[in-house]
Amino acid sequence: MPALTKVERTIHVPARTGASVELKKGQLIRITDLKGAQPCDFWAFNKNDHWEFLAPEYTKVSIMKTYPRVGDAAYTNHRRPVVTLVEDRSPGQHDMEFAACDEERYRQLGAKLPHASCQDNLQNEIKKRGMTLKGIIQPWNLFTNFPIFSDGTIPTASRATTARSAPRWIASSWSRPAHRT
Ligand SMILES: [Zn+2]
Repeated sequence: MPALTKVERTIHVPARTGASVELKKGQLIRITDLKGAQPCDFWAFNKNDHWEFLAPEYTKVSIMKTYPRVGDAAYTNHRRPVVTLVEDRSPGQHDMEFAACDEERYRQLGAKLPHASCQDNLQNEIKKRGMTLKGIIQPWNLFTNFPIFSDGTIPTASRATTARSAPRWIASSWSRPAHRT
């Protein structure tokens, strides 16, 4: 594992909110579930081409697993590794099957509206950074456990792991320059 020499920035992300950071190749990000049972929807974009982004469906076929384990990368829709999981002290369950929650999901669940959602949090961060997206993009659901039964069904009671203070590390790892001609 790359040695951590200096923490450049710490961001506390309160429940139901989002945050974003810009990373260069080789930089590390640690995401910590401070209280446990707190999922974290994680997106990653190519700064130079926002239409290239971390894509669970491309990742799964690239690593032939349902989600990355330590040493595995997550891949973009251009089939390039974007982040690599270099350490994981959580229970290690990080779903790549489910769409991010959004207002319509909470409406269907009968929740009181308006309700904060991961998709809205993403859109807020996108706006703050002056980015534009051409569609709805789905995340990597960190600290989230949705086991799939052998008959293809998913238990409805699935929920977040009890990660408590489990940190993990992800390094940006573009395999070639992001610019293209
Ligand atoms: Zn959510």
